[in-house]
Amino acid sequence: MPYCCQCGNQVAQTDRYCRRCGASQPAEQRPPVAFSPRTASVLCYVPFVGWIVAIAVLAGERFRRDRIVRFHAFQGLYLFVAYLIVEWVLGPLFRMLPGLHMRPDRWLALGLVILGMYMMIKTASEQTVSLPVLGELAERSAAES
Ligand SMILES: [Zn+2]
Repeated sequence: MPYCCQCGNQVAQTDRYCRRCGASQPAEQRPPVAFSPRTASVLCYVPFVGWIVAIAVLAGERFRRDRIVRFHAFQGLYLFVAYLIVEWVLGPLFRMLPGLHMRPDRWLALGLVILGMYMMIKTASEQTVSLPVLGELAERSAAES
């Protein structure tokens, strides 16, 4: 239960103005994302858009001290970075190779999308899966911040 920034009177989480002095309350007092830790963790792995949730989790106040959610946010973010590397670095490289009929980067990108969905399912059932390399990086990042 937060308190008024002006007079210290108790205000409800959803109050925009203090009932006693009428001061408008800062937006930080209302949680920007009302997700549960598990929902937030699952959303970090949504292919293509999960990184937006991951950044919101890492930048926000709500999960600042939640090591597990932050781990998932970092891992989801690194998974997206891996996808970008495949799309932007490996893709153009393989495109330059002549006579290549089966493009390995397409399969890699598809594999990463499927991996993201797999992580969503695992995280939704409260299992913390640490991926090779990405998981270790995420672990370290979550411990540092
Ligand atoms: Zn007040």
